[in-house]
Amino acid sequence: MSKQLQNDVIEILEETKETEKKKSRNTEFAVITYAFLTLFIVMSVYFGYYLVFQSESFINNPYNNARISNLSKSILRGKILSSDGEVLAYTETDEEGNETRVYPYENIFAHIVGYDTNGLMGAESESNFYLLRSHDSIVTRVLNDLQNKKNNGDTVITTLDTSIQEKAYAGMSDYEGAVIAIEPSTGKILCCVSKPDFDPNEIANNYESMTAEADSSFLLNRATNGLYPPGSTFKIVTALEYLNEGGHLTDEFDCNGTLSVGDSVMHCVNNKSHGHQTLLEAFGNSCNVVFAQVGMGLDRATFTSLGNQLLFNLDLPLNISNSKASSFSLTDEDTEFRVMQTSIGQGKTLVTPIHMALLASAICEDGVVYKPYMIDRVENVNGIEIKQNEPESYGNIMTSVQANELQELMRYVVTDGTAGALDTDEYTVYGKTGSAEYTTDKDNTHSWFVGYAKKGEKEIAIAVVLEGAGSGSKHAVPLAKKVFDAYF
Ligand SMILES: [Zn+2]
Repeated sequence: MSKQLQNDVIEILEETKETEKKKSRNTEFAVITYAFLTLFIVMSVYFGYYLVFQSESFINNPYNNARISNLSKSILRGKILSSDGEVLAYTETDEEGNETRVYPYENIFAHIVGYDTNGLMGAESESNFYLLRSHDSIVTRVLNDLQNKKNNGDTVITTLDTSIQEKAYAGMSDYEGAVIAIEPSTGKILCCVSKPDFDPNEIANNYESMTAEADSSFLLNRATNGLYPPGSTFKIVTALEYLNEGGHLTDEFDCNGTLSVGDSVMHCVNNKSHGHQTLLEAFGNSCNVVFAQVGMGLDRATFTSLGNQLLFNLDLPLNISNSKASSFSLTDEDTEFRVMQTSIGQGKTLVTPIHMALLASAICEDGVVYKPYMIDRVENVNGIEIKQNEPESYGNIMTSVQANELQELMRYVVTDGTAGALDTDEYTVYGKTGSAEYTTDKDNTHSWFVGYAKKGEKEIAIAVVLEGAGSGSKHAVPLAKKVFDAYF
């Protein structure tokens, strides 16, 4: 091999080594680059997620007062509107810069719109995050910042309808209790009234004297957090369990007005004897004797698990915060009389009005529940849309076959039973009345109506409870009619 050739070979070998080194250096570089890129993407996603979701729940937490008062230093709290465009809450600023939250409807929307001081409540609490952000135009915001002026918070438009709310409020007159109406196909809360009530305009200045009174339960939203014996409205659940266990609407029974077990006696209203009747007729007449007989024949364990399926004993699927859980169960330890009482909605069972409205809403939707909500959308101060909430399905709580049977029962109550006053050509009503005893004196009863009404595509589900008002057909039914009339 010539000297020259030797040199060439050495050179080629060295070049190859160099290239390989470069290659491996390139690979190392690529690995590091990808590692950093991945880290960057992960962190961006994390911070993006934090900003979009975590900060929302962080600011929206009503107990996070420090953060809220900080935001309210730079933002003028936004307005809360009804679905029909009426102002339910706004902030007034006087010449000295003092701010007052004003509630033009005073007591009418007290619990559901709530207040923004002393711990936040209702829509003021649910939408706190939106009311304390501003999506006003950048130019306006820059100009405000330069002049040290506050920016206008965004406007929150609720699902609440003023005409329905006003009718429900007036219809309750001086009775304590609750009325709540929901749009079954979406879960939109259309009205929500609770009494006794209060004027939210007074809360900021008079909170302590108002809550110092012995009975300060007027702050409780009875529609979501009031627990009541359901009375005969519970026959909806008893009837469904009976049908599940192989019973039929045409099965026949006898009522002679009373039913005794040991020393305990159960009566139909006014000791009335309903005589020979089918299950459908007994439901329409709200016959206690037949439903107590039916209840005694039911399997306690499957009855209880049907209750769980219908959202008893658990937190309701709501897109509003804070409601109490209804309770219902039967065990082998319960006496026969307790089973009879439970089957007609007495006994230990307790329900919230919103739960009963949700049950009616599911029956209307062939078994599907849409989670109730009250924040429809958010706009900036100039009416430009920032966020639109969509209906959210929770899924079926009963099959469509089960729902159809309950529809037939509840329709019969209106055409041939205790809710005859709701039989109109204007719209079609399905429901169940109830008179729930809450003391040993049988004359003291809460007046209930639970049901829904349809006309074409329009649907509304409702629960009405009037404390100590007597029979359901006497007081709760006419009130439900006022709400339906206002809606249709
Ligand atoms: Zn009877």
